[in-house]
Formats: sequence, structure tokens, C-alpha cells
Amino acid sequence: MDFSLTDEQRSIVEVTRSFVERELYPHEAEVERTGVLRHELAEQIKEKAISTGLHAANVPEDVGGAGLDTVTWVLYEKELGRASYALHSCIGRPSNILLAGTDAQKERYLYPSVRGERRDCLALTEPDAGSDLRSMRTRAVRDGDGWRINGTKHFISHAQESDFVILFAQTDDQTDDQTDDRTGDRTDDGTVDAAGGRAMSTFLVDLDTPGLRVHDGYRNVSHRGYTNAILDFDDCHVSADALLGEAGKGFELAGTWLGSTRLQVAANCLGRAERALGLSVRHAADRVQFGQKIGRFQGVSFKLADMAMELRAAELLTLQAAWAYDAGLATDADIAIAKLKTTEVLAMVADEAIQIHGGMGLMDELPLERIWRDARIERIWDGTSEIQRHIISRALLRPLGA
Ligand SMILES: Cc1cc2nc3c(=O)[nH]c(=O)nc-3n(C[C@H](O)[C@H](O)[C@H](O)COP(=O)(O)OP(=O)(O)OC[C@H]3O[C@@H](n4cnc5c(N)ncnc54)[C@H](O)[C@@H]3O)c2cc1C
Repeated sequence: MDFSLTDEQRSIVEVTRSFVERELYPHEAEVERTGVLRHELAEQIKEKAISTGLHAANVPEDVGGAGLDTVTWVLYEKELGRASYALHSCIGRPSNILLAGTDAQKERYLYPSVRGERRDCLALTEPDAGSDLRSMRTRAVRDGDGWRINGTKHFISHAQESDFVILFAQTDDQTDDQTDDRTGDRTDDGTVDAAGGRAMSTFLVDLDTPGLRVHDGYRNVSHRGYTNAILDFDDCHVSADALLGEAGKGFELAGTWLGSTRLQVAANCLGRAERALGLSVRHAADRVQFGQKIGRFQGVSFKLADMAMELRAAELLTLQAAWAYDAGLATDADIAIAKLKTTEVLAMVADEAIQIHGGMGLMDELPLERIWRDARIERIWDGTSEIQRHIISRALLRPLGA
């Protein structure tokens, strides 16, 4: 096995890290203290990212992106993850789901997103349907030559700053195979599960469509400046060409999105954890108490050793999952293992980093209290830790019929 980076990968890591340090770090304190990411600042970062070639790095070259393979993309996401989430989210990574569009949908949604002219958000979650996507109540029914949508989505990231939503809604369609990819569970008959859940379909809906109201969501302890919204659909009519992919195949598209977004979470967590570890090593090497560097106390140095070891394990698991993804071998469990391990390692590393810094670790002069707060959400969104464990354990037990 060859674990070395190629010249191209090394160069992408260097360019991305230097962009993050130069263009994002200087604005972190403002976003944390105000809780707001100014529109002008977001636009400035986006434009600089476009001119540096960092925008839309996740999508293929033939549609205008940088076309990074998954391993290289994970390395790039790791570098972005060092900075405040609100700031690095200004660098566009259009959803890979948009690749499933028709030519007309690509013209309207994908290409403008790749050029940085439009932005997508994605809506699966509802007040009564989080981990359990099958209990989704938002419903699209055929109406003339289009669809009429009713329901409510919540927790929808950056919808206020977006132009269109990739919407998942219940429909009456039949499907060949349904996989609830938030849990990895399959229905046997491929249509309606035992609990009476229906098929799910995906739609591209402009956020200014009559009948759709976007309003501010909740304030959040993690990722200050990164907004979330509530989307209310009230007899919202969309035309037939709003349907993305085939009717009834929404779980497949959700699975496509969740696979990549979980790897992104994992990679971002690695960057944040590595930053916290770097600061901790520096502090342990500089800070003197009882007449010696605190790194000389095993109570401190062994923490550093454990942080480094866990971080290395999390990174290897994530890169292995990314490699398997590229090779077409990745299972839901591979990706779940990467997400679960990195998010839990980040929580541990952030907590120990604060301990090693003592009181200063909690002050907002350093990025550690932010990293600690930001770590909390990672074990919840894009599938909670329990759901990741469910996916992993099902992969072990299902072959035995259990
Ligand atoms: C800030 C923020 C932004 C988000 N952005 C988006 C977005 O852009 N788009 C989007 O669609 N969603 C988004 N989400 C939603 C996110 O993915 C969900 O919060 C997450 O999937 C969990 O759902 P829930 O919060 O409803 O928790 P619930 O599903 O209600 O879970 C509550 C608890 O029950 C546990 N639990 C549930 N089922 C099981 C089970 N089978 N086995 C064991 N334990 C179980 C969970 O692990 C958890 O501990 C966002 C969430 C947040 C907080």
C-alpha cells in the first residue's frame, strides 16, 4: 500500500491551507463575536475562491468543476475544515445530486452553481422526521402537468442565502428498491414499507416560488454565522420539470448526497482536530509551570499522544473510505465508520486541547472554544452517531439474517 501523496495532492493541500490561513482565519473572530457572516464578506471569499480555483472542486471537470477524485477532495475538505464553518462554506461545493439532472436542469441549476452564480440548499429533515426519513410528511401530489407540494422542512442550512432547494418529498410512486440511506435500512417489497411509508421523490424548487416561504430557523451553539431555516410549502405548485431523476427514486439520490456529505463532515473534522492538536503541542512546549514546560508532565504529554493517535486512526479510516468510494467499493458502513470515528475524535481532541490550555482554552482569544462548540453538531447532523452505529452493526448482522 502506498500512503504517500501525489505532487498534485500536495499542491492542492498547500494552496488550500494557505487560502484558509490568509483569507479565512482573519475573519473568524468577527463571525464568532457577532454571530453573523456579512454578505459582502461571503461574496469576497467566494470570488477569491473562484479565482484561486478552489470553488466547485468537488464536481467533475466536464461540468466546469475541478474534478478532484474523492481522496484528493477529502484532503482539500480537511484543509477547509480548519477554519470556521460559516467562512469556508462560502466556497461553493454544489451538491453532487445536481449531476442527476436533465440537460435543462443542469443549465438552470448545476452550471450556475458551479460558476458561483446560484447556490443550492437541501431539504430532507422535518420537525417530525429526522433520523426516521420514512415518517416524512411533506407531500408532492400530481396536479395538472406539475406537482403541488405541502409540508414543512426545518434545520435547512443556509436556505436564506440560497437560490433553490433540492427538496425531498413523499409521493405515491412505486419504486424497485428503496433504501433509507440515513439508516441504510431496506424495504423488502421495494415500495411501501411496513410502517406505511411511501416512496420519496426529489425536486428542484426555486426559493422564490409562490407557496414556498423561507423563514429564519434556530440559533445554534455550533457554527456561528452559519444559518438554518424553516421552509413552509403551502400548495406550492411546481412544473413537471422540477422533478429530479425518476419519481420514487428519492432515497437513491438522498443516499448519493449522504455518502459525500458524511465524508465531507469527516474531512472537515480532521482539519479542525489537527488545528487543535497543533495549538496544544505548541502550548505544551511553551507554557511553564512548576519550573518546567507543562509538556514535560506526563499528565499533559500523554494527552497529546492519545490525541495524535486517535487523529491518525480517524484520518486513515476517512482516507480508506474515500479510496473505496473512488474504487466503487465503499459501503454505507465504510462511510459511517469514517463519520463516526472522526466526529468522536474531534470531540475528544477539542476537549483535551482546552484542558491542556487551562483557563485560556475557554477564552475566545483562541479558536479552541469555537472548535469545542463546533464539534458538538458533528455527532448529530448528516446522521447521528447512533444512526452511524446502526448502519455499521446492520452491515455485520444482516448477512447472518439477524
Ligand atoms: C444546524 C443544523 C443544520 C442542519 N442542516 C440540515 C440540512 O441542510 N438539510 C437537512 O435535511 N437536514 C439538516 N439538519 C438535520 C440533521 O441531519 C438532523 O438533525 C439529524 O439527522 C438528526 O435528526 P433529529 O435532529 O430530528 O434527531 P432525531 O432523529 O429525533 O434523534 C433524536 C435522538 O434519537 C436517536 N435515534 C433516533 N433513531 C434512532 C435509532 N434508530 N437508533 C438509535 N438511536 C436513534 C438519535 O441518534 C438522537 O440521539 C441539520 C441539523 C442541524 C442541527
